[in-house]
Order: sequence, then structure tokens, then C-alpha cells
Amino acid sequence: MDQIKLPMGRVELDHVDIVTSHICNNRCKHCIDKFIRTSNKVISLETIDKFLNLIRSHTDEQLEVLLLGGEPTVLATDKLIAIAELVHSKGFLVMMSTNGILKDKIIQLIPYYDSIQITVNSDEEIDFWRKWSDKINIKLSGDADLTMEKLEHFIEYTEGFFRRSISMYFTPDFEELCKNAEIWELLDTLEWQRNGSYMYTFYKGVRIKKCIHGETNIIDEPTVPKVYPNGNYNKTWCHEELDDYLDGSWNE
Ligand code: SF4
Repeated sequence: MDQIKLPMGRVELDHVDIVTSHICNNRCKHCIDKFIRTSNKVISLETIDKFLNLIRSHTDEQLEVLLLGGEPTVLATDKLIAIAELVHSKGFLVMMSTNGILKDKIIQLIPYYDSIQITVNSDEEIDFWRKWSDKINIKLSGDADLTMEKLEHFIEYTEGFFRRSISMYFTPDFEELCKNAEIWELLDTLEWQRNGSYMYTFYKGVRIKKCIHGETNIIDEPTVPKVYPNGNYNKTWCHEELDDYLDGSWNE
């Protein structure tokens, strides 16, 4: 454990991910977690401690540490607070990406987290979270239901949230879920920047992210190192079977 290092030498890190579990209280058609519902295991504080020490041995930067899953809020509140405190104690910022279903729990967690990213599906949900707009990154799914009307309404209706974002989702075969021609016409007019294995841009103050076909989730990482609930250290969402990191070796 004392010899751990990043496998590919010194690389630029964007942020780091903690995959808290593969449990979820939702069933999205195109779930982003390939291992969803394959295990009830929840990440341990010991694994997180070891993982953060690895990252800290690589950089002094105050990187963002993002909790995701599965759904992070299925973990006990005490555990999620302990994780936030552990992340802060190592000098990182702590974020969470959630489906927003367990509202009471999220409200309890807000003081402990630097920001919480919530995917919303209605104006009522946006209104609900407005009170915490200084901490909530309000997010819209770029999926099969996205239209120009929905996008423009989201932009207008979420004014005042400190961070707003849209992710253009895709299948493991890189098929975009959004088929709306108007949306893609708009996106094609915007100037995109590359960040590791994905592209991003801003439209009217909203950050939009899309994959790079054939690359995202496969190469150009570990800009986003990930630790998994089983204790393994990895870097991608898909194609883990092709990846040396999945064997859980922390020394190579
Ligand atoms: S909320 Fe997230 S983890 Fe849960 S099913 Fe949907 S995409 Fe998967």
C-alpha cells in the first residue's frame, strides 16, 4: 500500500471519481453504470483513504472528488458525511452526482458538500432546489427527449443556479441518444474544447458536454481516475475488461 502510484506516470488530472456502489433506486433506460445492480457492495472509507493518498502523492492541487454510482445517496447519511469529511481532510473539494430522488437526505448532506449535481426532469424539481442554488449544479439529460424548446426553457428557468449543465448521453457503441436535428444543428455551431476524452462548450452560460465518438471511455485517461466499490482502481466506465487497472493492482 505504501508503494502505490498512478500507473501511467505523471499525467494531468481533471478530477477524480469515487464510484460509491452499483446500487440505485432508479432504472434509467441507458444507465451510465455498466455494473449497475451487479453487487450490493458499498465502498469503504479505507479504500477511499487509500485512493486519495494515491492521488495526493501525484498532485498538490485542490482537485474535485466526485461521488457517483450507482446512486450515492443510497449509502447511509453518516457514511456520506464521513466520506465528505475524509475528502476535505486530504485537501480536495467534494462533489456528488445524484438523481435527486432522496431529497431529505440530500438536504442533510448539502452543508458537508462543496456542490451537488442533480439531474432534474421538471420545473417543480428545479423550484425545489432553488433554495440551495449556491450549492446545486442543476443538470438536464441530453437524451432522446431533449428538444430545443426543452433546452431553451431549462436555460431560462435555471437562471441563478451557480452551475448548470447538460450531458449529451450515448450508448456504449457511441450512438447519441438525442436524435433531435435542431439540437445538433445548434451544437454544431458552437465552439467545443477538448477535456481529456470528451468535448465541452458553453451555450448561454450552460455547460454542455458530449462524447468523442470512439474515444470517450476508452482512451486518453487517467485524466479521471476512478475507484470502485470492490476496492479496485480503474479509469474508465466501459471496456474495463480491456483495462489493466481492473485487476485491482495498486502497485503497477
Ligand atoms: S440514476 Fe444513474 S445509476 Fe441510477 S439507473 Fe439512472 S443512470 Fe443508472
